[in-house]
Formats: sequence, C-alpha cells, structure tokens
Amino acid sequence: MLRSQIKMIIVITISFSLMMIFGVGHKLLNDVKLSTWQITASLKKNEIDSDHDWDDWRKNSTVDINHSYIYVHNLRQDAEARYYFSPRADDLLQKKMIKVPFINNLYYRPGFGFLYRRFVSSNGIYYTLWQNIGPQLSILIRVIEVSAILLAVTLVLAPIYIRRLTARLTDPLTDLSTSTQVVHQAEQSGLIQLPVPSQPTEVTELAQDFNHLLALLNQRQDQQKLFVMNAAHELRTPIATIKSHAQLIDRHGADHPEIIEKSVTYITKESRAMQQIIEDLLAILRVETLSLTLTRMNVTTAVSAIMQPLEKTIPQKLILQLEPDLMAQTNLEALEQILHNLIQNASKYSKPSDPIVVTLSNKENGSVALTVMDQGLGIPEADKAHIFEHFYRSDDVRGSIPGTGLGLAITKQFVDLIHGHLSVADNPTGGTIFTLLLPSAIDTTGQSSHS
Ligand code: ADP
Repeated sequence: MLRSQIKMIIVITISFSLMMIFGVGHKLLNDVKLSTWQITASLKKNEIDSDHDWDDWRKNSTVDINHSYIYVHNLRQDAEARYYFSPRADDLLQKKMIKVPFINNLYYRPGFGFLYRRFVSSNGIYYTLWQNIGPQLSILIRVIEVSAILLAVTLVLAPIYIRRLTARLTDPLTDLSTSTQVVHQAEQSGLIQLPVPSQPTEVTELAQDFNHLLALLNQRQDQQKLFVMNAAHELRTPIATIKSHAQLIDRHGADHPEIIEKSVTYITKESRAMQQIIEDLLAILRVETLSLTLTRMNVTTAVSAIMQPLEKTIPQKLILQLEPDLMAQTNLEALEQILHNLIQNASKYSKPSDPIVVTLSNKENGSVALTVMDQGLGIPEADKAHIFEHFYRSDDVRGSIPGTGLGLAITKQFVDLIHGHLSVADNPTGGTIFTLLLPSAIDTTGQSSHS
C-alpha cells in the first residue's frame, strides 16, 4: 500500500511539473513570436531601401541589439545597397545553424545560442530577424529547477507522511486483529469486548459493530444454554418418575401385584408428558427454519373453517363472534397453529362449563383483531411478561395441570412469521383474553422467514 501511494504521489508531482514547464515554455515562445512580429512589421513599414532609411529606422527603433540580429536583403533593381546588417548579424550568418526539432523557426547557432527566426518580405525587400531567446530560456530553466526541487522534497517527505498516515489506520486495525485472537482463544468469550480506538472513525465503527455482534452472539449462546438446561431439567422429572416406578414393580411387583397397575398408570402419564416435551421441542426447531408465504385472504372464512374441527376436541362451548369478510395478509398454516394452541390453553385452564369466545373484528388502523377469551384461571400479573418464554409455567398450574411451558413460545414464533402481534390481558369477567393483531397489508415480498 505504502509503495503504491508513493508511486502515485511521484507520478502526480512529475505530471504537475511537466505541465508547468510546458505551460511556461509555451507562453515564453508566444512572447518571442509577438515581439519578432512587431519588429519585422516596423521594418516592413519603413521600407528599408536606402542607407538613410536603415539609419533612420535604427535610430528610432527600441530593438535590443544584444539579442536581435537583422539582415535586410534588397532584390530590387533600383537598390542603393543590396544588404544591411545589424551589429554582428553578418557574424551570425557565418555560423552553422542547427534546427531544433518539433518547434518551428527555432535554431541553434554556436556562439549565439538558441534563436527564433522570422522571415518577411515586402516590395522586393527581404527582412530576416534572428531573436535570441536566452532571457526566456533562463526563466524556463528556473522553472525546471523549482520543479526538480519540488520533486526532490516530495520524494523525501511523501514516504514519511504516508507511513504516518497508514500507521494511523493500520495500527488500530492490527490491535483489533490481535484482540480478536484473544476473544477467539478466551474460554469465557462472553466477558470479552474489543478495545474501541477513538480514531480513525472507520476503525472505531468497526470495533463498535464487532462488539455489538459479539454481545448478540453471546446473548444467543446464553439463551441456547439456558434452553438446553431447561429442556434437560424438564425431561429429568418424568424420567426419574418412570425409573422409580419401574424399580418399584421390579422389587415388589411379585409380592404386591396391586401396585403394578398404579405404577403403570404413572409410567404411562409420565411417558406422555415426555413425549409432549419432545414433540414441542421438535416443533420449535421446525418453526425456526420455516419459511411461510403470506397471502391476502378472507380471515373470517379461514377462522370459521379452522374452528369447526377444533370445537370437537374440547369440552367447552365455543362461541364465534366474527365480523363478515375481514381481509388480511397472512398464512393459513400459521393461523391454524396459533388458534389451535390458544384454544387448547383456554380449554385446559378453564372449567368445562365455561364457554370460550372467539371474536374477529376490524381495527381503526386497518388491522384485524382476533381474540380468544376464556373464563378460566386467569394469569397472575407477574407471570404475564414471561408466559411466552420457553418452559415458563405459572406456579398455580405447575404440578396440577399438565403442560410443557412451550406452547405459547411456539405460538409466538408463528405470530412473528406472519408479522402479527400477540398480547395477553385479563378478561373483565374473569379469565384471560389473548389478542392477535394481523396486519391488513404487508409491505414485503410476501415471503416470511424466521431464524
Ligand atoms: P403450557 O400450557 O404447556 O404450560 P404454554 O406456553 O402454552 O405452556 O403456557 C405457558 C403458561 O401460561 C401456562 O403454563 C399457564 O401458566 C399460562 N397460560 C397460558 N394460557 C393460559 C390461559 N388461557 N389461562 C390461564 N393461564 C394460561
């Protein structure tokens, strides 16, 4: 990186210097062209065809004879004199002339240096002017010298400056890279954060983003650990019960056959509980990788179709209060799962004589509200914030009413997949109300996925 940056700066400096040299050179040459044009114009105007004209012109002219050489050649029949030479002009003509390539009318004559030639004629008289461009050349040489100094200074300073600049960027990055190694090797990576340098801003943001990501990953890891621990804990209880009853039958079954039936009943009950936990765990994993397509549908029709078979699975009376033809952007499978879980819970935590009411109504903001109301146990205020967590069960029901504490967590996963919102509240007449809000139209491609 350093080498390429130095190269770039050198190329820029050289290009800039060349442009400056060419620019100045061009301007100086133009000045010479203009002054030679002025001199030859005045010669033509005076029509130098006699000694008197020549002397007159020379007297009035302001031409710098140290740098300008004039040669007049009169080819007219009546010519008083054929040739006029300004001082040293005849000398100059003796010298060999070398053409400077690429520039018109520029020559080199030993002893006289570089000369610009202008040749004009009028009325049979030919005027040749040789203009020494020494003064202009010395200006150009000064420009070249300044450019060379500039280049030399750039060559010395650029690497120092660029090295400092890159160090400012790479040093924090190197520190960051070393720190990531430490994070990688650390046993308790959850406690480690990368040091955030105050500058440059790009690296500060990178470190902050990395720390944010690290925190999220650690949080997810902690959640997974907790989930596995809870799952193990929940499975341990039925396993222990099954084991103790199996041992009981083994030791005393022969002598006391009456305990066999009781123990088998326990074993069956606990096996079912285990099976339910395993099924719910598998459901959680399945929904995590599920991708659902959302379509605009008549939710009233969908809900009443879902309710029909559900009604037969519960002892309670189901009362449907559905506004007709309500439309929403949703998914039928998700809706089925959500309603199934909510109705099963409402039934499980209510007396068989208490009816369950399902309502469907339009909200002012265009969303559709689906409520499941029961008149059962109700949920203590402190538990409401936790009932959607994995394995969470109210103390009131744990041990007395069977359940895994996973049903509402799965329900919530489905709600998220359809971009809905699920909330819980007390039923004023006793019991619980679960409200699901379905967005009327979703501003997405219709694909919903959960990870
Ligand atoms: P489960 O019902 O298997 O215990 P859920 O995740 O479905 O698990 O519910 C979590 C907890 O929320 C339940 O254990 C219960 O304490 C409470 N709960 C859920 N629905 C109701 C309801 N309709 N009435 C009273 N309590 C409920």
